Amino acid sequence: MSLPDVLAGIRAAEQRAGRAPGSARLVAVTKGQDLEAIREQVLAHTDLQPGGFPLGEGRAQELRDKAAQLAEEHLAGAQLPEVEWHYIGPLQLNKVKYMRPVSLIHGLEEVRQARALADAAAKWGRAPDVLLQLHNGEAQKHGIHPQDLRNVYAEVMQTGLTVRGLMVMAPEGDAEAARRVFVDTARRAHDLGLAELSMGMSNDYPLAVESGATLVRVGRSLFT
Ligand SMILES: *Cc1c(COP(=O)(O)O)cnc(C)c1O
Repeated sequence: MSLPDVLAGIRAAEQRAGRAPGSARLVAVTKGQDLEAIREQVLAHTDLQPGGFPLGEGRAQELRDKAAQLAEEHLAGAQLPEVEWHYIGPLQLNKVKYMRPVSLIHGLEEVRQARALADAAAKWGRAPDVLLQLHNGEAQKHGIHPQDLRNVYAEVMQTGLTVRGLMVMAPEGDAEAARRVFVDTARRAHDLGLAELSMGMSNDYPLAVESGATLVRVGRSLFT
């Protein structure tokens, strides 16, 4: 698999679901990949998606270092696009300071994370938008339980951050359970009037796109 193969898989899933081509965007997950692989396997394909591919990192220091390096190369005139950074990992409070280059945080799950981000953003002069991570109903450490979603949403909005949607990670190895989680998440986002749905990884992105994902976070399949 490579990035063009994954894009073709996304387009096919959109078509099966009667969705407009391009209504699901690929977020290229680059955690653990070095800059050479990112340049060759992702950035070289920038023209294949309007606006390019946001890069998703799940480790805060790694994001900071890669963002600094690629921004420097871009400014130095290398044939590299300006990169849009997304943070997809769990956000520890002491790592909020590394979120400055980030335009979207996928996995916000606690109001105190939002408060820390809003405080930092006031200093930076700009704030990342956020998605709220929904708990997937299995024995999972991360995510907001459905009964708390409305309250957390309201409190995060009060910090001044913009909540653009929901994010979920499906249970592994059970396609029917994954589909239920995706469809349920889509319904909850719709009920809250939220447009963005970050769902789907290498092993389940076609299902996620069929279920309404607008952002799919694929890593491994881009680099093998
Ligand atoms: C690593 C990761 C991904 C990408 O997973 P792959 O299996 O490599 O496609 C997506 N979302 C999150 C939250 C991740 O941590």
